Amino acid sequence: MNNFTESKKLLDRASKVLAGGVSSEFRKYNHPHAIFYKEGKGSRLIDVDGNEYLDFTLSQGPLILGHSHPRVLEAVNAYSDKGQLYAGQHIQEVLLAEKICELIPSAELIRFCLDGSEAVQTAFRVARAKTGKNKFLRFEGHYHGWLDNVAWGISTPSVEALGDRAEPTAHVWSQGVSPESRDEFIILPWNDLELLKETVKKHHHEIAAIITEPVMCNNGCIAPKAGFLEGIRSLCDEYSIAFILDEVITGFRLGLGGAQTHYQVTPDLSIFAKAMGSGYPISAIVGKTSWMDCISNSQVIHAGTMNSSNPTIAASLATITVLEEEQPYERMFYLGKKLMKGIEEAAATYNQNLKVFGLGPMFVTLFTDLDELVDYRDTLQSDKAKLGKFISTLQDHGIRVIGRGLWYISAVHTEADIDQAIIAVNEVLSEM
Ligand code: PLP
Repeated sequence: MNNFTESKKLLDRASKVLAGGVSSEFRKYNHPHAIFYKEGKGSRLIDVDGNEYLDFTLSQGPLILGHSHPRVLEAVNAYSDKGQLYAGQHIQEVLLAEKICELIPSAELIRFCLDGSEAVQTAFRVARAKTGKNKFLRFEGHYHGWLDNVAWGISTPSVEALGDRAEPTAHVWSQGVSPESRDEFIILPWNDLELLKETVKKHHHEIAAIITEPVMCNNGCIAPKAGFLEGIRSLCDEYSIAFILDEVITGFRLGLGGAQTHYQVTPDLSIFAKAMGSGYPISAIVGKTSWMDCISNSQVIHAGTMNSSNPTIAASLATITVLEEEQPYERMFYLGKKLMKGIEEAAATYNQNLKVFGLGPMFVTLFTDLDELVDYRDTLQSDKAKLGKFISTLQDHGIRVIGRGLWYISAVHTEADIDQAIIAVNEVLSEM
């Protein structure tokens, strides 16, 4: 095992001044404890003890161009030289908005925010204002941020605890969440169009929005069944409901046009964050004018002191420009699929029920006897303890993967990186 002496010392010190020693819940769950890093370059990360990792977490997704991409850093530095935040408008946010409108099919008007959680709440506000209805319909296992009304149905002890498919029990993720926030939504298992149709037929008079991740990436990595997203689109049209596509993970990851281009379905509102900003705090709610005009005319208030600061806008413009120039997507799909295949072959060699699900640019590894995943109820049947051991042993072999088994491929991962990861997976499985 690597030496973590300096990380441990810093964690002890941090725990006296940072709650839990960290700045985000998910950073606690590292191996053997929260780790402190000192440098990231390309596909590599180095911790304070000098351990080097080939990074497939990409900081939970944002680093589509890897760590410290020179074009991003140059743009951030150059634009920050002209100031940080004007409490007023500036040219680069117009350039960025024009670029996003050009690339994203559903984008006609945009507002920039700081993160995905906040942009999701803005979308709910728009949907309520435009429809005059109050609830949103969401799906089990889908993550839409950490705020109260979405902190349900994402952390469940067992499949049994979810109860009846037609009227699931939504468990709350955290203490301190307002119990009234449970009244804001209807929850259903994902990928079940018939059940969705029945539910919407019954409750459409109170549903302002249906929100979904296009690919369920937060509990498994599950593609929508053929016709499912299109089914949501028609229901929303039929019953005057806002279709909100949460592209926080898929945006700029599945392609420049996001999942909506990949799956050829056009939502009313969509949320972008993570990969659009290469690690800088920027997100966007984008949508058709017919929805977003309620923000334009101030019927719906959206605000934020820190919105569209110079560094965040410069980072996003540079990231999207590099992605447009380099068109890395075919390669990211190729490398991701190569790695998925290598992991599957290793699992067969060592007779492990390690399965790989996903599209390539992102995929998940789970220990399960199921050959196909359809929804959260399937993901919940995998062996979490075994996955934890696999991920932490991989980390000891210099490969860093998100704890729930999610792997992200960046534009800067190389064929040699993929080969290194496959060798490590073989070594780890041989030890398990
Ligand atoms: N939506 C999805 C699909 C996400 O994966 C996340 C975060 O992982 C969010 C929303 C919340 O975004 P943020 O963490 O930027 O608030």
